[in-house]
Amino acid sequence: MTRSHLFYQSRQRRPVLDQARGVYMWDVDGKRYLDGSSGAMVCNIGHSNERVLEAMRRQMEKSTFGYRLQFETEASERLAARTAALCPDGINRVFFVSGGSEAVESAMKLARQHALAIGQGTRWKVISRTPSYHGCTLGALAITGYAPLTDPFAPMMREMPKVPAPRAYLDGLDPDDPATGAHYAAQLEACILAEGPDSVLAFIVEPVGGASTGALVPPAGYMEGVQAVCRRHGVLLILDEVMTGAGRTGRFLAGEHWDMDPDIIVLSKGFAAGYVPLGAIAARDGLVEAVLDGGGFLHGFTYAGNPLACAAGAAVIDEIEAQGLVANAARMGGALRARLDGLMDRHAIIGDVRGRGLLLAMEFMADRDRKTPLPAHLNVHQRIVDIAFDMGLIVYSRRTRDGLEGDHIMVCPPLIVTETHLDEITQTLDAALAQLGREIAPALSE
Ligand code: PMP
Repeated sequence: MTRSHLFYQSRQRRPVLDQARGVYMWDVDGKRYLDGSSGAMVCNIGHSNERVLEAMRRQMEKSTFGYRLQFETEASERLAARTAALCPDGINRVFFVSGGSEAVESAMKLARQHALAIGQGTRWKVISRTPSYHGCTLGALAITGYAPLTDPFAPMMREMPKVPAPRAYLDGLDPDDPATGAHYAAQLEACILAEGPDSVLAFIVEPVGGASTGALVPPAGYMEGVQAVCRRHGVLLILDEVMTGAGRTGRFLAGEHWDMDPDIIVLSKGFAAGYVPLGAIAARDGLVEAVLDGGGFLHGFTYAGNPLACAAGAAVIDEIEAQGLVANAARMGGALRARLDGLMDRHAIIGDVRGRGLLLAMEFMADRDRKTPLPAHLNVHQRIVDIAFDMGLIVYSRRTRDGLEGDHIMVCPPLIVTETHLDEITQTLDAALAQLGREIAPALSE
């Protein structure tokens, strides 16, 4: 096969994927990989689920496209109803897109149109956190707190305010003390006051951080605290559940861990589990009604509500429920966490293991107690990913050109994993860390 036309991030070529089933993938040379990151935390129900494929086949035989301004489809209505039923009370209106960045853009624009509809047109700023990741389109990038990805495009974007993500473990604060959550929530309030509450539209937050923070679990009191701050100042609360949604953290939505009551929820990734490109926003009824009363939502993508994508999405939710995958994520997440914690005794460079359910990460440090980072040039997170990949285990890290926001990897297998898979993941990671340890020992003893 000629390989010269396609391009992605760099010149580095990747193996060619042949097949994938369950938690395993095979390249065209027959090498098998355990998908320990569900791609990019996407394939929550595993690969090639026969019932999802069958639902897609049934839909394909009926119709594959219906333009949303000309037709509604049973598939999109069914998925919207299934989604609303899984969201908190009062969030019953669903808008479909084709991915996470599109969904984040949609949430920002819906929030803005709501402000205009209720006579609060001075509000336009969307506050987010550093570090964070909300997408790569220019709107979503403007609220992404991750300099290596945003800096080159700064002149093309409207600058948006940022507050620090609550990295209690780095700031020397006790994550179990509600005063810690209150401390970071107060930073959000200070930011709103400094910007002028009348100019602030929304605060967007990943309930459990994704790859930018390495599965950052908020400290006690934080989520409730930021919700109260938003309420106090008439600022909409947007939960970006692109990575955390669809069961990944052991609840269908991660916001459920804190009984959150947001205004807009953003979904993608596990929502269609990699079967089709699909994302969604689910919004509070009154918010959508105000926008529709105010003249309609001025937004939409050609592929929005695509019936094939929606049929696949609904079948994915059916599978999550039929197989009890949310509960399995909680159970297997606990079991994997215990195994990864166990690796800390054998590998001194593991500085921290954290996460919720099957959204887990390991952070590497030169000194665990002092929280000192490893030399950036060793590129430890990427070396682990590469060594493990050679050994047939896929784990995930963000590839950055320069500047590291934490030297971490994500260990996030599909929610269908069993204890046997967890053993394989742990044994391979153990071997990969041992090889890395040998590799970097000379540099560390210098
Ligand atoms: N929000 C979050 C929290 C994400 O993790 C991602 C993707 N990593 C996005 C938004 C953007 O999604 P996509 O890559 O599908 O555009």
